[in-house]
Amino acid sequence: MNLRSTTPEDGESLLGFLRRLAAMNAYAHLGDFLSLVEVRYGRPMQEDLPILAGKLGVDVGVLERTAPHSSPDFATLDWRFQRSEVDPFCPACIQDGRVWKQSWRHSLVSACPEHGLVLQSLCPRCGVTPSSTKGGFRTCECGYQLQDFQRVEATAGEVHIARLIEAAGRKSLEENIGPWKADVPGDISRFLFFLATSDHSTRSDKPGKMPLPRTLEATRDFMVPVHDLLADWPRAFDRNVEKRLNSGPQKFNSAPARLGKWYQRLMSFRGAAFDPFEERVGKTVGRVFDGSYAGALTPDEGREWISAAKAAKLLRIRAERLVSAVSDGVVTGRLQHSGHGHRHTTIPMGEVDRLRDLRARFVSSKDAGEFLGVAKKQFSLLIECGFVQTASGDAKHPLVDGSVDLPALIALVDRIRDEIAPAPPNGRQVRFRDLNLRRTTDRKALFQLLRQIRDGQIHPVAASKDDQLADFAFCGEEVDRFIKGVSGPAPLTARDVADLTGWKHECVTHWCKEGLLKSSHGRRCA
Ligand SMILES: [Zn+2]
Ligand SMILES: [Zn+2]
Repeated sequence: MNLRSTTPEDGESLLGFLRRLAAMNAYAHLGDFLSLVEVRYGRPMQEDLPILAGKLGVDVGVLERTAPHSSPDFATLDWRFQRSEVDPFCPACIQDGRVWKQSWRHSLVSACPEHGLVLQSLCPRCGVTPSSTKGGFRTCECGYQLQDFQRVEATAGEVHIARLIEAAGRKSLEENIGPWKADVPGDISRFLFFLATSDHSTRSDKPGKMPLPRTLEATRDFMVPVHDLLADWPRAFDRNVEKRLNSGPQKFNSAPARLGKWYQRLMSFRGAAFDPFEERVGKTVGRVFDGSYAGALTPDEGREWISAAKAAKLLRIRAERLVSAVSDGVVTGRLQHSGHGHRHTTIPMGEVDRLRDLRARFVSSKDAGEFLGVAKKQFSLLIECGFVQTASGDAKHPLVDGSVDLPALIALVDRIRDEIAPAPPNGRQVRFRDLNLRRTTDRKALFQLLRQIRDGQIHPVAASKDDQLADFAFCGEEVDRFIKGVSGPAPLTARDVADLTGWKHECVTHWCKEGLLKSSHGRRCA
């Protein structure tokens, strides 16, 4: 077969490229062209690119850069977010003679990042939806010109999402969207999905897996919460955090515990690109937590000096404690004496921020235990065996009350969660919360077991993103085998030895006394 061929352009979708090849070879219908070249657009095709490249007469390396896959550098090529049914387009791009953009195939995108128009997916004449088998490069199945489809201006939020996803991992934005400008992270899709669904997951503990939107209308509805968050960054996000703090379980004293699983999910996004979100959480917590400080922090306060009384209020400690920390030289501040012998202490706002971060970082054992979901007794064991570290240098700061480094603990739990091992079929499972002295009285074995889990030597067989450490499941057989291995076989009594060997009991005890048999004395429990 003698095909006319070309190479995909930068940012062109693979399906759009197939449309273009069809047109080059005088096929008005994508479906007919795909039958001709015996290609069925879908995942199997994309997992065997050399075959596709051969059929199309295209260099496979070039195809690899345009085909979706499982761990792409660019958000637009992420397999998990590819549209499966619709193949929408922008009428203005078609009119301008542009190629079909990769971002149009992303299931969180509903607008053209370039023209700010709503993507179109329904022919006004024949009612057909362009898909991986329908429509052509410039015309619909019915011959209607794609450039003549309706032009509807997208909302600012829709355009933001389209631009973010198009830029992610690839290029800088022209202007800030949310906290991002340069370095939009390549895995932004997962984060936007988290923001879009996080209000769902607060309603029930086990939301199940939220499906991706399948139609353009569904995409728009699905992304509205994110549109709002980005349009009024950071205020809208702050308000969201504030709402969560106020509606979370009030019995918890620490903000992370009150923010619950949402906080854990947020913290699981790593890298500088997500730091601004964590910072806003910290700032909002400092501002509204427990309502003890109601005023708003303005950016200007960063350069100001404030009174010790005000700073103490922000830090939620007694003013005398702060003043003495300043005079001891452990906190930056100024001591001024007025003529009447009054002392006046001021603290730079930057120092207050540092102290607030430090105080937020270290939480009490009670809060740390709540974060992990374990009982008080088990938490003491976790400290005793070194599973949870306490009292690092920073924690000894006189203004820090907690002793457990929360970010380090979160990172540890994430690390354990990330390394799920396959569970043996029909295997017995034991929850982390049950790895305690009720399971085995052998302290030494239990401690070693816990340390093996900490060090990633023993992996959980089930641990979902929303689970607390206490809920992580381990293989029962593996746990028992490990404990038995450490404990070793139980020692034999003289009677056991006599029975086993056929020697007389008195002989065995005599040989023990003479030191001919290694032995120890002990009373057997009844
Ligand atoms: Zn366009
Ligand atoms: Zn049509």
